[in-house]
Amino acid sequence: MKMLLDGQWVDSDDKIKVLDPYDNSVVDTIPSATAADVETALAAATRGFEITKRMTVYERAQILSKAAGIIADRLEEFAVVIAREASKTINEARKETSRCINTLTCSAEEAKRILGETIPFDSFPGGEMRRGYYYRFPIGVVLAITPFNDPLNLVAHKLGPAIAAGNSVILKPATVTPLSAIKLVEALVEAGLPPEAIQLITGIGSVIGDPLVSDERVRMVSFTGGVEAGKHIASVAGIKKIGMELGSNSPVIVWQDADLDLAVESCVSGSFWAAGQNCIGVQRLLIHRDIYDEFKKRFVARTKQYKIGDKLKEDTDMGPMITETEAERVERWVNEAVEKGATLLTGGKREGALYEPTVLENVPPEATIHHEEVFGPTVNLYPIDELDKAIKEANSLPYGLLAAIFTNNVEVAFKAAYDLDCGGVMINDSTDYRLDSMPFGGVKYSGLGREGLKFSLQEMTEPKVICFNLPGI
Ligand code: NAP
Repeated sequence: MKMLLDGQWVDSDDKIKVLDPYDNSVVDTIPSATAADVETALAAATRGFEITKRMTVYERAQILSKAAGIIADRLEEFAVVIAREASKTINEARKETSRCINTLTCSAEEAKRILGETIPFDSFPGGEMRRGYYYRFPIGVVLAITPFNDPLNLVAHKLGPAIAAGNSVILKPATVTPLSAIKLVEALVEAGLPPEAIQLITGIGSVIGDPLVSDERVRMVSFTGGVEAGKHIASVAGIKKIGMELGSNSPVIVWQDADLDLAVESCVSGSFWAAGQNCIGVQRLLIHRDIYDEFKKRFVARTKQYKIGDKLKEDTDMGPMITETEAERVERWVNEAVEKGATLLTGGKREGALYEPTVLENVPPEATIHHEEVFGPTVNLYPIDELDKAIKEANSLPYGLLAAIFTNNVEVAFKAAYDLDCGGVMINDSTDYRLDSMPFGGVKYSGLGREGLKFSLQEMTEPKVICFNLPGI
């Protein structure tokens, strides 16, 4: 597949192979962008903004709705591309495609709700003759950098609101999963987006990242990815807006009165969705001691039922990790935890990029898998006795994206909701629940700012004040 630069679909002799992580077959190739391509993208995006900022709300909303319709008509085609290039099973990929359609549809709707307000200039002496308001104007060129784990919908989360706001965009998708993103851009162009409005550049982030991120023509960097890349991007961005959706190490509390069937089913799915490569995937399960043994028994039994393997088979529950190297890293972290005293309850075996759904207990705090983001199909169980201590434990790491609690006690739920330090608390759901239009983001190293269409639109626009001095009135 090709890059879209300055209105042209362009290829290059220097190509990067996109591999299916299940069998390492080549799905397609993408060009590896050069420094000249970076300059072309920056110059074209700057010109593109002159077009997009003059497009009416109606035009922007129409394009986004039409693109959503194009993807809905080809849902299976999009799902297969996700299921080939990424880790997701075909069923997980279908769900992501449906969510992408919703993301674009909500972006179109939110385009019509970018509102301003009148300002009471006469609320301070000297302002009597002044009348005015503010409206929100597009920020300019948005650089969108996206990760591999939701290769379609997380791209839509940047392109949808950026287009809705009237910005031009430079998109740099993850190198291991660029194909769904390219198909999304094709759909937007087919829907009528002027090709100058979007630059799609492919290449290695650590090579083409700095000249894009640091360029003053870029007015906002909207990044989703790991903390390390996030820190680097923040250090080179200079004076421009930065949105960061980073990683986590999500805690879920299972209180003694929880509905165990619900909690087990929800937490197993939340731990192993997309082979655990999910920023809101369950990593730490803090279970009340009174129900610990029963929960553990049911949780391990349900995990053992998981069928792993070929992503394109309808009955596969979990696919491979994104690369064998990543599966080896998870294997290392599990082995290190076991060497330091953890007990392996199930899983722990690897075959290529396939890593078994794995459950650990007695994980010591010094084990990497306790305190870092594992981003793989493993989960740790811990017994807890008191709510305050469970909340303290949940808050003890430098992440805070989503947290969750299972309980039927409204006071316990409220206490957890207010005291858990994070961007959102799910009650009677695992952390792996997100509605695409809700405000989504984290505290501490989990991020800066919020996504979720209406909220992304706030981040991707600026208020501009208009004040009339009318001494004659
Ligand atoms: P990553 O390695 O940080 O890469 C993310 C993107 O950043 C890729 O496009 C990558 O390009 C690019 N990149 C890497 N280094 C860069 C640099 N120096 N300058 C500019 N761009 C650079 O993350 P990942 O492994 O793809 O994704 C997993 C991480 O994303 C996890 O930590 C996960 O929690 C997080 N995540 C967060 C959310 C959220 O909403 N909070 C959602 C999903 C994922 P290349 O692919 O070319 O390296």
